[in-house]
Amino acid sequence: MDKKKDARQDQKSEIREYHTPSSGFFFKIKKNLHSKKSNYQNIELIENETFGKILLLDGLVQTTDRDEFCYHEMMAHPACVVHPSPVDILIIGGGDGGILREALKYAIRNVHLVEIDAEVIAVSKQYFPWMKEILKDNRVTLVINDGVNFVKNTSLKFDVVFIDSSEPVGPSAVLHEKLFYELLKKRLQPEGIIVAQVASPFFHSEFIEQKMTFFRELFRFSSLYLGPVPTYPGGCWCYAFLSDLVHPFDIKRDPPPGLRYYNPDIHKAAFALPNDLIF
Ligand code: SAM
Repeated sequence: MDKKKDARQDQKSEIREYHTPSSGFFFKIKKNLHSKKSNYQNIELIENETFGKILLLDGLVQTTDRDEFCYHEMMAHPACVVHPSPVDILIIGGGDGGILREALKYAIRNVHLVEIDAEVIAVSKQYFPWMKEILKDNRVTLVINDGVNFVKNTSLKFDVVFIDSSEPVGPSAVLHEKLFYELLKKRLQPEGIIVAQVASPFFHSEFIEQKMTFFRELFRFSSLYLGPVPTYPGGCWCYAFLSDLVHPFDIKRDPPPGLRYYNPDIHKAAFALPNDLIF
């Protein structure tokens, strides 16, 4: 087989995720489970020996069986343990259901999951065991819509909002802009909290600094915190905790039992930042 074919053959047996033009991760494909272009993005789901099922959108890892708990626990629990009474929850993005699963562990009244791409929901229901179950929970309202449209048109108010967007490209780009947070702030109850994934502290610190500039204009408490996600660029991920009235250390309740990563000590430690992230 000639070199080109070899490379193509080799390509088919693995997926390469580029983090920079000269570096990234690769995942050997044990089995191709799904690969289809939706109206919004290319959706792939593969089986890998090390990480199990891996969901990729436009070639970028979103969720893997093996390490999704690191990300979803650190997105969901810091806000849910400090909010005085988290009853009305909004998740924007989050089509793999990981944050929804974690939020439902609290005595919430309802949770709106606003996902732009029904295909992501369908693939997640088919391949992620938690998804089918949690969508049956009568506290869940699934909305297939653009997060910005939803926030612009709803009259609902929320106690905690999770922005579980993909990278700031394609449909997700609008979820990373100041205008979106200005709209979102109007949908918060007085003690409302927003938690957003704000990307890799190693590769995207300028982008995080830009966001912190407008976060500080909009919210009294705007704090970054960190947590490991082995399959994300740089292996460590950055989150933003935004609120006018609730301090991120004002813990009101224990987290639910059975968590694998998050605990009260991790909570405090996560907000300790390296010099590069102190803007
Ligand atoms: N944990 C992942 C990460 O940090 O990259 C993100 C998980 S989740 C799969 C991201 C979801 O956001 C995707 O399902 C995507 O379809 C959805 N999404 C992207 N843009 C959106 C928008 N404007 N409104 C609602 N959902 C959106």
